[in-house]
Order: sequence, then C-alpha cells, then structure tokens
Amino acid sequence: MPDPPRIDLDQLERRIIADRIDVATGDATAGAQAIWRDGRWWHTSLRVAGTTETLTEWTTGQIASRQATVLRRGWQPPAPSWLGPPIGYVDCTDCDPHSRLRACSCTLGGRPAEPDCPACAGAGRSPSALPCHRCRDTHRLHHGVNVTVTDLDGRVVHLTWRPGDPVPAPLVATQPGGKPVHQLPVDYRLADWAGTFGVRPEDLVELDGGGFLDQDLRDGVVTVDHPGADVLAAYLERAGRGRPGARLFVGAVRPEVPDLADLIRIVLGLGLTVTITVTDHSRNAGDLRLVRGESWDVAVGPAGLPAVPADPPTGRGPEAAIASCLEYLELAVVGSVPDNPTEPIRIPQAFDPAPVDDPVPLLRQLARHHPGQPVAVHYNGINCQLQLRERDTVRHLATAATLPAALTDLGLHRQ
Ligand SMILES: [Zn+2]
Ligand SMILES: [Zn+2]
Repeated sequence: MPDPPRIDLDQLERRIIADRIDVATGDATAGAQAIWRDGRWWHTSLRVAGTTETLTEWTTGQIASRQATVLRRGWQPPAPSWLGPPIGYVDCTDCDPHSRLRACSCTLGGRPAEPDCPACAGAGRSPSALPCHRCRDTHRLHHGVNVTVTDLDGRVVHLTWRPGDPVPAPLVATQPGGKPVHQLPVDYRLADWAGTFGVRPEDLVELDGGGFLDQDLRDGVVTVDHPGADVLAAYLERAGRGRPGARLFVGAVRPEVPDLADLIRIVLGLGLTVTITVTDHSRNAGDLRLVRGESWDVAVGPAGLPAVPADPPTGRGPEAAIASCLEYLELAVVGSVPDNPTEPIRIPQAFDPAPVDDPVPLLRQLARHHPGQPVAVHYNGINCQLQLRERDTVRHLATAATLPAALTDLGLHRQ
C-alpha cells in the first residue's frame, strides 16, 4: 500500500478559518467543516438551511419547544471512490410508525387474520408494547446487509450480501408448524470467519449492542414462511432487521477474562456467594433449529440467599459468562450492604484464600450427565451445593466441602 499523503494540518486549519467568510459577499458564514473522506481532507463552509422545532410534553402537561438550526454544506465533497451502489429498502408493512399498532400475532407467516382473534378481532393489527417483529421499529426492510468483521486491532473484513440469483440453500429441517428451515452456503455463515480470525464461533459478538451473535447468522440458517419462498431474500431481511444503514458489525475477539477459579476465590473473599450454571446442548447437535453447544451463567449474590440455578443460562461459554458477571460485580457488592443501617458492613477479607479447583471441566462432566437440563454449583464459602433444574422445580443433588468431593458423592468423579 502506498504511504498515506502527508497532510499539512496548519494549512487545513487556515483554509477552514477562511471558509468562515463568504467570498462572494464578505459576510460571515454559519461555520466551516473539515471532512475526512477517501483518504484525504476536504473543507467547506456551512450555511443556515432552516430551523426545526421539537415539541415535548412534560408530565405536568406543559409543552416544551426546542428549536434547532439546520446547517447545510456550502460544497459537497465527491462521493468516495470505494462507495458501492446503495442498499435499497422498502417500508415495513407490519407496523405503523405513528402508533403502537403492529401486525397481530394471528397473521404471522402471512396467514389471514382470524375473525375471532382476542387481540385484533379480525382487524389483523393490534396494539403492542414490543418492537415490530419484522423491522424492530426502524420501519425499514433492507434488501441487503453490509457485514464488517473485525478483531478491533487493525484486521477488518467487509462482506456485502445482496439479493440476486437463487443460491443453493438445502432444506435442513422443518419447524413444528411446518415452516421450512434452510441453510445458506458458506459465504453467508459468519461462523466460518471466526477461524480466519483465530477465534471460536461462540466468541463472535455484535459490536453494536455487545450481545453474542445470533446462532442463525453464525450458521446461515433461516426459517421461511412457505416452501418455494426466496431463501436468500428472507435471510437478508432477517440479518438486516433493525440495523441502521443495513450494517452489521461483528467483533471477532477472544474474551480476556480471569480463570473461573480465581473469580470464585475473589467473590468468596468479598463475603459473597457465586452460582455457576451450565446446560449441555449436545443432544441438539445437528438440529439447526435448536440451541447447540453449551450455555453458561455466573451469578454473584449476597451471602445467606438460597441458591438457584439460572433459568436458562445464556452465555455462549464460560468466558462470556465470566465477562458478564464481572460487568455486574459492583452491583452485587453494593447489594450485599445490609438494609439495616445499624448492622455493620462486613469487611472483605480472606487471610488464607481457600484453594478452588477449576470448576469448568468438572461442571461440564456433570452437565453432560444431564443433557438439556441446567446444572449448577453454588459456592457459599462453607461448602459446594450441586443442583439440577427440572422444569419448574430445583432438585438438590449433593453438598460437600469441594466440587470434586460433591461429584465423587454422585459417582461422577474419582479423587
Ligand atoms: Zn389477531
Ligand atoms: Zn415493522
């Protein structure tokens, strides 16, 4: 790559300051702007192009008005040379941007409204507090998606997915209601990019929002309304749903977190308790409709509360669950302050931290023994309790001084 051009910032500054005067009239303009585009700086004056007024209703009923000036560039720099044709969109027909009316759930999958539907009475639309299922309230359905995968350290891959000729997308399953499930070719599966970036598919996260990347986007899976539907168009609409500018930013970074055993030692030293929940989804392997792999949750709580397994655990791996736990650790510490102001605050201390065995392989072993059911270990500083969630009830499995001892009691571990 050629070296980037040297920029004389002093000269740029002088030009921007000069832009503040209209050369034709000598009057002051509304300001000036420098724009970085296509690998170089451009500059332009700004002009007043009108005003906008926003009215807001206060809880007292008064109406507050806020006026803002709209500025326009005096000159528009040329479009970047790398810019491709824009991604088109159509307005969503399932929602109304001016009301809470949304397509009623009785019309999902393109069905006609049910005349005696309790929500819409056959009108096909009903008020909903939830965002529109189809467009997430953006009111736009994009025809394509721009995907950016990055390690946030200089390595970036841009993918542009556009509709076009049908792509080979075999039928891989059928939903219980009869809707076909298809899988798109490798080009549309983001899981394959994880290996290129040296991370695992479960490490992929959505950079805008921070959540883990949807499993269907990882594996290029989409459920269509009826046989013969345009699979690629349905996938693109689903992938671009609710994304400003039809852009999806994916982070391919391995989370840097402490070992779970270290976290447990810290938490116990703070006088708190910790519950780790795992569900093993190995029975779902190969069924692209269902959650696969493992789900983890690490929850810290005040001492003395009964332990409850997470229902369900949602972290895509131990690292993701530890990262999310650390994010909220401060809340757990604050939550452990006694409500009674005369009760002294416990001083965090651990003169002799108890050794803790790495619970990850041990819990995996227990979870594999109860596939599909959340299993949990609760550390309270005194002992370890193992629990199993069975539908609406929690079954106590074992209590022992350490996790290996509890698993030995269950006949799952040999010390
Ligand atoms: Zn309805
Ligand atoms: Zn909508």
